[in-house]
Amino acid sequence: MLFSEGTNNESCEDSSSETSETSGTNSSEITIYVGKTFQSWEHVEKFMKKYASVKGHGVRIGGGGRVDKENHQILKRTYLCRHAGESKASTSCRVGCPWKLNIWAKKDKNYLEVTTFKDQHIGHELSPLASRFVPTLRKLSEEILQEIRFLTVVAKVNATIQYRVIREKFKTRIYRTDLYNAIDKFRREAMPGEEDAGTLLKRLYDKKDEDPRWIITMKLDSATGSLTHLFWMTPEQQILWLRYHDVIMHDNTYKTNRYNRLLSLFVTSNNNLKTRIVAQ
Ligand SMILES: [Zn+2]
Repeated sequence: MLFSEGTNNESCEDSSSETSETSGTNSSEITIYVGKTFQSWEHVEKFMKKYASVKGHGVRIGGGGRVDKENHQILKRTYLCRHAGESKASTSCRVGCPWKLNIWAKKDKNYLEVTTFKDQHIGHELSPLASRFVPTLRKLSEEILQEIRFLTVVAKVNATIQYRVIREKFKTRIYRTDLYNAIDKFRREAMPGEEDAGTLLKRLYDKKDEDPRWIITMKLDSATGSLTHLFWMTPEQQILWLRYHDVIMHDNTYKTNRYNRLLSLFVTSNNNLKTRIVAQ
């Protein structure tokens, strides 16, 4: 019986990325050479998965395998690069890569042995673990972070331009994920509005749940859904208002808070001529 070729990894999706548990593997341990031995086909399978993810190419079992007719034990297996063979469809990733490996079960001995190994890839790129996992571990220097902070908060420049600026200015590679994370962080620091508004509203409505006399009105921006106007009066303020409404002062402060929002206060004075805020 022959192994049918191409039953594994037919798609061009990167199948090797699923073996993330191997990310701690030292790539120097993962070598293939003629004469390398394995205890069982199970070991071979495990090894090949690791090997493929470390080296950065998919591997599939190719045609040319052999099985013992009597006991149905696997005698020989051929592993091919995922990019081996001729393409049958336009979506195929097969570019005739010659990378190939033969492993034979030695009948007289109790192990499997690599008998052929062509360690050459042609026609495609490799994306080894090292280059796939290291980027996310990279940290941006303080200098670059300050630049990103400036570009994000002051210059208000988008990520694509920032990417170019930083590469130009610092003559260094920067990973987009790191850049996006940093931009995100500085943006949130610069306008923390959404989360804070949510907290404030929740606190106010919790109060109203406890005491329905609380008055809360608000306006939302219909496009962004963000809070644009908020007015509230506590029950105590309403009593004050009713009692001391002869003179109500209305004062606005502009851009003095960190949200650059208007703060509007309604103030009166009580019978002791103390200033009391009656609404905001
Ligand atoms: Zn290849």
